[in-house]
Amino acid sequence: TDPVHIVGAGMAGSEAAWQAAQAGARVVLHEMRPHRGTEAHRTDGCAELVCSNSFRSDCAATNAVGLLHEEMRRAGSLIMAMGDRCKLPAGGALAVDRDAFSAAVTHALTGHPLIEIDRGEVAGLPPEAWGNVIVATGPLTSPALAEAIAARTGAEALAFFDAIAPIVHFDSIDMSKAWFQSRYDKGETEADRTAYLNCPMDEAQFNRFIDAVLEAPVTEFKEWEKNTPYFEGCLPIEVMAARGRETLRFGPMKPVGLTNPHQPTIKAHAIVQLRRDNALGTLYNIVGFQTKMKYGAQTEVLRLIPGLENAQFARLGGIHRNTFLNSPSLLDGSLRLKAEPRLRFAGQITGVEGYVESAAMGLLAGRFAAAQALGRPLDGPFGPPPPETAHGALLAHVTGGADADTFQPMNVNFGLFPPLDTRAKGRKAARKAARAEAMSARALLACDAWLAGRAAAA
Ligand code: FAD
Repeated sequence: TDPVHIVGAGMAGSEAAWQAAQAGARVVLHEMRPHRGTEAHRTDGCAELVCSNSFRSDCAATNAVGLLHEEMRRAGSLIMAMGDRCKLPAGGALAVDRDAFSAAVTHALTGHPLIEIDRGEVAGLPPEAWGNVIVATGPLTSPALAEAIAARTGAEALAFFDAIAPIVHFDSIDMSKAWFQSRYDKGETEADRTAYLNCPMDEAQFNRFIDAVLEAPVTEFKEWEKNTPYFEGCLPIEVMAARGRETLRFGPMKPVGLTNPHQPTIKAHAIVQLRRDNALGTLYNIVGFQTKMKYGAQTEVLRLIPGLENAQFARLGGIHRNTFLNSPSLLDGSLRLKAEPRLRFAGQITGVEGYVESAAMGLLAGRFAAAQALGRPLDGPFGPPPPETAHGALLAHVTGGADADTFQPMNVNFGLFPPLDTRAKGRKAARKAARAEAMSARALLACDAWLAGRAAAA
């Protein structure tokens, strides 16, 4: 059979190669290092960790990334097996010795009889003769390949920066202060009644908020990020506020076209608008609020917004160099480019964020590509996992669940999972823990069923 060609031996490409080869497919893994480097990689090893050495929480019962670890272990993940082997003491987190980890992944891939590693840059779209391809070139995809992808997808569908507005869990928003409404009630049908929600501020609250934004410490750009052109269209809120105290009131905080049903006779001085971020309606992003405020300060500042006093964040705002596709509009349910299905994508370039999430997308892409190479149907353990699993929730999010207009890279979190049928009882913290445990237990049952190729037990 023809081999699967995988471009990029990072977190996603290494896992994809392992999964495809373990399924019985031949693999050619193309890696440009050491011939060509990136701004962040330092070695020529596979699965090099470019920054922190942590895979984050390892607790499957209470944390969505811990759950993803466990599902990956059950699916025979190379990244998790080598992560566990090279583990360092780190409390509840899984931290690894980065050199030993990368060496172990490289050794396993090099020693696999079905995997060939080819060192060299793929400096344009992969040749058509390669057939079944996975592109896993990551957030720092080489310019020649990135330009070729942009030419194929349309430049606006491939981003070079993520400008992330904070994303809030809906169930942590105080709806006795906030309300659902689209500006000027545009398109207010029942289906999009919950498209936007609004948080009002009076003048004193607005002034306190602007003071806090101006005082908050920010994360500086890295030297190499400074060289990528910055864009007026998505300035951080602290940059806007520094241009003038009123600037935000004429931008993302403009108080027009909205009426607060809780106080219909009082005109708000400013309004923060949140937009539904996923089809489930469990996540809302704060519109136009991309920011480089440091995480601790950012949480404090955002909780000054009336209605968000107790907000829980699915992700905080940030701006980084990051190459990623507008996957909800471009990719099909098995991560193939709809416009050119021979090309499958995996890893951070699909719009997931993080080492583990990237490897998990590699795990899925490797299985899908292997099934295709071996002429098997894309179902059972070689098809998309159920949406109740962490893998399925991430896949569903990037391939359609997320809003394509505001799509930004996403870590795995329980807000991406289908809600539970029953609501947990008790105090708020206890309810949150019970919900995580129930979602996690449901996910592992569904994961086992997926891997065994049977329908999940009810
Ligand atoms: P990568 O692991 O980057 O792998 C892509 C591979 O493709 C690389 O080996 C690259 O050399 C190769 N490649 C690129 N272009 C070509 C080409 N044209 N031909 C052949 N090979 C090519 N996530 C975290 O969880 N924790 C962190 O601390 C963290 N820090 C980060 C810091 C920075 C500076 C960046 C940019 C990202 C960070 N991330 C972090 C996010 C992300 O999870 C990692 O970048 C992760 O490695 C992504 O996995 P990937 O497989 O998609 O890409």
